[in-house]
Amino acid sequence: MTKEYDPYENVVAVMEEAMDKGNIDKKMFEIIKNPQRETKVYLPVEMDDGTIRVFEGYRVQHSNIRGPFKGGIRFHKNVSLNEVKALATWMSLKCAVVNIPFGGAKGGIKVDPATLSERELCRLTRRYTYAIEPIIGADTDIPAPDVNTNTQTMAWVLDTYSMLHGKPCPGVVTGKPIELGGSKGRNSATGRGVVISTKLLLQEYGETLEGTKVAIQGMGNVGGNAAMIFYHRDAIVVAVSDVSGGVYKADGLDIEEVNAFLDGGKRLLKEYQAEGVEHISNEEILTCACDVLVPAALENQINAEVAKRLQCKYIVEAANGPTTKEADDVIEERGIVLIPDIFANSGGVIVSYFEWVQNIQELTWGRDTVKEKLEEILSAAFAEILETTRKYNLTFRMGAYIVALKRLIHTEEIKGLFP
Ligand code: GLU
Repeated sequence: MTKEYDPYENVVAVMEEAMDKGNIDKKMFEIIKNPQRETKVYLPVEMDDGTIRVFEGYRVQHSNIRGPFKGGIRFHKNVSLNEVKALATWMSLKCAVVNIPFGGAKGGIKVDPATLSERELCRLTRRYTYAIEPIIGADTDIPAPDVNTNTQTMAWVLDTYSMLHGKPCPGVVTGKPIELGGSKGRNSATGRGVVISTKLLLQEYGETLEGTKVAIQGMGNVGGNAAMIFYHRDAIVVAVSDVSGGVYKADGLDIEEVNAFLDGGKRLLKEYQAEGVEHISNEEILTCACDVLVPAALENQINAEVAKRLQCKYIVEAANGPTTKEADDVIEERGIVLIPDIFANSGGVIVSYFEWVQNIQELTWGRDTVKEKLEEILSAAFAEILETTRKYNLTFRMGAYIVALKRLIHTEEIKGLFP
């Protein structure tokens, strides 16, 4: 029987393997294995019908040794402390692997946002912001969007925080609307980073995006933007999915049409009809015939069983933690090449860093500057991961973890331990 999946156990086990394979001194690892602070809050909210509901919220601050804590806020019915702890740890690793001066954190509220009205969501977000206000700030901990949160959510966080401080505090969140100090290119940044990562990977194998068959699980902010950019770079997007299931077309979907149909989540893929389009299940999207599989939904999607049935050559992890450690072993054995989440989806936090830099300097950059600088950071990090991967003859996951852990541990060492 397979053990129940625990994302935090999973990330710790992967870090331990990387510590061994990279021959890294373990003394400081004891610190990195644990988050610095876990905050749990109970959030009373008056519903539109006058009743009161109390929601559970979290903010886990994993590490700030390389810079302020940084990471998104997720609204999902399955949010739990261990999930948020794992997500916070991945943020520390992510910021370290691409070498931006942030630590790692993550927040979440256990709620299915689809069951709340816009006004209820606004009240919930504001109450959550009030509850975590003492521990966030432009130079302490900077939230951003994640699963089921967006620019509007960030506008509410920003306004609540600014009201409490009696002045505009744009640097307290990233991924906010451009009108409130958001950065050009932030909304599509994670998806763009996924496409750039794929391009860098394919280049290594003498291939290009053009004509490459891509399947994408998840059409939220990350999957939806990645699909559009792949499509415009002449990749063949053969399959995409959302919570209602997937659609498949062997010679490529018209992603412009699919995205227009979905209308930012107002409609579901199961209702989409077009010539030659087949409807497939969530499981089938993962195992369909393609060159590149892009899981862009949640954790724990590719387990060992699914891994045995994959038909792709490459996996580019757009979601955080979509592949279990057991699946990693199967994937390696089968010769499928995987680009890990901490690098592949780092485009979001990289452009968050650009947004924060623009806010604290009170200036704005053009879209082309953002795109160029994003590509520059990703290319430099990829070269470093590649070098480590080749040197130790390991998977890209191990290579990326070794680069990130060495950087975190080196910082711990030169900083020393307080007191
Ligand atoms: N939620 C995104 C992530 O998982 C972005 C975080 C950020 O920009 O701070 O990487």
